[in-house]
Amino acid sequence: MTSQPTVRTLLILGASGDLTGRLLLPGLARLVAKGRAAGLQLVGAGSDPWTPEQWRERVQASFAVAAGSAGPEGKEALQALEKETVYHQLDVTADGALASLLATLDGPTAVYFALPPRISQLACESLRPGQVPAGTRLVMEKPFGSSEESARSLNQTLVRLVPEDHVHRVDHFLGKATVLNILGLRFANNFLEPVWNRQHVEKVEIIFDEDLALEGRARYYDGAGALRDMIQSHLLQIMALMAIEPPASIGERDLRDAISTVLRASNVRSPYSGSTRRARYTAGQVAGKDVPDYAREEGVDAARGTETLAEVQVNIDNWRWKGVPFILRSGKALGVKRKEAVVTFRPVPHLPQGFTGVDSPNQLRIGFGPDTLAFDVDVNGPGNIFSLGRVTLDAVLSASELLPYGEVLEGVLAGDPLLSVRGDTAEECWRIVEPVLKAWQQDAVPLEEYDAGSAGPAGWPTTAARD
Ligand code: NDP
Repeated sequence: MTSQPTVRTLLILGASGDLTGRLLLPGLARLVAKGRAAGLQLVGAGSDPWTPEQWRERVQASFAVAAGSAGPEGKEALQALEKETVYHQLDVTADGALASLLATLDGPTAVYFALPPRISQLACESLRPGQVPAGTRLVMEKPFGSSEESARSLNQTLVRLVPEDHVHRVDHFLGKATVLNILGLRFANNFLEPVWNRQHVEKVEIIFDEDLALEGRARYYDGAGALRDMIQSHLLQIMALMAIEPPASIGERDLRDAISTVLRASNVRSPYSGSTRRARYTAGQVAGKDVPDYAREEGVDAARGTETLAEVQVNIDNWRWKGVPFILRSGKALGVKRKEAVVTFRPVPHLPQGFTGVDSPNQLRIGFGPDTLAFDVDVNGPGNIFSLGRVTLDAVLSASELLPYGEVLEGVLAGDPLLSVRGDTAEECWRIVEPVLKAWQQDAVPLEEYDAGSAGPAGWPTTAARD
């Protein structure tokens, strides 16, 4: 299958950066090899004085894995893109530099800001509305702003340049398949939707426990922490998909309106010592490998008190969800990788007398990457037919043939912002977490500790469930 993208040129700013080499170019390569980016031109730009060959070598190296498994047509498409790609040296913050480059490109162009956030902002501020050709798409990486106010200010800069639906705020975390898997499960199964509410659901947990520790990313991570890095962005988006009202269509307008409505109703209640928890890992072992104390990792300023594990209870104050806790947790250096949303249903109102054994609440677990489904139900027997026991019905859900960044790029190239975070939503996510960040800064919530390789601090209910 070949498809013609709406976008003619993909301009990557930050050509020499980590994101470009490790994620963007390999994601693009798979897309090209599958014939899903026909006719696209690739342009790299950066502040380094690279020769065209240096850039081509970088592209070739990042395309190698996709090229290795591509068929003849895919290989040919990759080679054609490698041959035609060009590199421009420029300081994107210099007045007129980016505008001049844009004027020379064969549009419509998608400008991918694979730059440090501050530089992306300065680059956007350097552009005047008349300097951005019609049809241009701006692709912004996370973090989008550092507070509600800074996100709003960045939004104002962007909408002066292009319409909102031409801004793609990237959230590579939720691939298209995962988003559609959640929506398909929720809205194509008549038995679920009637119980998907406060009458029947006791709590919803969204958990992203990583076994990876800092992995040399102190420069970024020590200034961010788990709440900003994971919960403010990705986990709130998953929560919104789990909680939205049924949309009329899976179009960007209907879906993004529904997401925005849920987030506007969401908040974390004070006192934050009750609704949030934070912790930092100490030395330990993950999968047999020694992990040093976070506070002693190179580049970490221990006095900052950056959390490597965060948990917040979000309330959604609307008719459907009032009183149901949504518990969002994410952390590093944990003993077991766990990436799932767990819906726990209320117990049955009355268990007929005569039954014995376990009567545990039903749980529906949606696993992410690979996407899976598991439903815990009580059944009778075996042996004593009056005795209840637990079985799990499970399924593996469909996966995408693209890498996460391939899915992001496909949306950008097709001009479809479905998977992009809308401007108002980016601001809402900061509004929800900002009071927590302030309370943590003022030490209103203790910074606990857990051994690397453990399940997390002992007293946390989400840790106990793991044990
Ligand atoms: P890097 O620091 O590795 O790369 C940044 C790039 O920006 C370099 O190529 C650098 O070129 C270029 N650059 C800096 N200043 C200028 C300038 N004035 N003009 C032109 N180019 C400039 O960052 P990452 O690739 O890691 O991150 C990029 C963005 O992606 C960030 O917003 C980050 O938060 C986000 N992100 C990154 C992820 C990752 O895994 N790396 C994951 C998710 C998001 P030079 O070195 O020549 O100055």
